[in-house]
Amino acid sequence: MRVGVDVGGTTVKVGFVDDYKIVDRLVVETKKETLFQDVLKAIKDYSEKKNYTLEKMGFGLPGHVVGNVIDKLPNVGIENLDLEPIVRDYFPDLEFGCTNDANAAALGELLADCNSNGSGYMITLGTGVGGGLVIEGKVRDGSHANCGEIGHMFVDFVHNYKCACGLHGCLETVASATGIVRVAKDYHSVFETKLNKDTMTAKDIMDAAKEGDQLGLFVLNMVSDALGRAIAAIEVSVDVDTFYIGGGVSNAGDILINRIREYYKRYAHFAVKNISIKKAMLGNDAGMLGAAYL
Ligand SMILES: [Zn+2]
Repeated sequence: MRVGVDVGGTTVKVGFVDDYKIVDRLVVETKKETLFQDVLKAIKDYSEKKNYTLEKMGFGLPGHVVGNVIDKLPNVGIENLDLEPIVRDYFPDLEFGCTNDANAAALGELLADCNSNGSGYMITLGTGVGGGLVIEGKVRDGSHANCGEIGHMFVDFVHNYKCACGLHGCLETVASATGIVRVAKDYHSVFETKLNKDTMTAKDIMDAAKEGDQLGLFVLNMVSDALGRAIAAIEVSVDVDTFYIGGGVSNAGDILINRIREYYKRYAHFAVKNISIKKAMLGNDAGMLGAAYL
């Protein structure tokens, strides 16, 4: 039995995994001061109660982590924390690994979709835009553990919106849920639309696009164009088989995924035009499953 831990702000999700499937789970409510101690104690107690023999444990962490040392988890409020001694207090011998949550989710999607040796890339479209790379079944963090930071790839040459990171024209300024609303507000007066400028959400905008709303379709095209260009750039660097599109925005479904594919083909190198781009399937379970196989 393996354990995958998906760390969130106040809730930590734990999956007990056997043969690439989550067979049991725990949710641990905690606070930042004792987060890892609380989670590890809960896993230890539960495993003993259920008679589980643990082979390996992994953590998907929402921020920057280098090896087993947390640099910064901005939304949790934890910095500069070495997990090794904390894990050892509860599990003296258990092998464990860490990565950021996007990488863990990428591995989870890949394992659920094909096999343990596959290569794929996951793009998460949420409040921001994240990425995770898996090559031949192994998560790649990169030399600075910054491998998936594609939200800050420069793709929008037109608007140059300022990004939270300080740069301009980053992918997430147009392709995240907040970016989609930003673009729609900017063009609200240009198109005929039923969308309410003050209250519209990314979901409203994608739903409007499905109904043929002019503004909705314009935004859908702009977002898909930015993502198609980004995927083409990533693909010539990493050469994987499949891109998985996840996060809340991906719930727009076929209309978004198909449009991303169309734009991708425009920008893609001829040798990689026919790679697979598909919607991620595991939702919130991807991080847990992937973490278990780090
Ligand atoms: Zn940025």
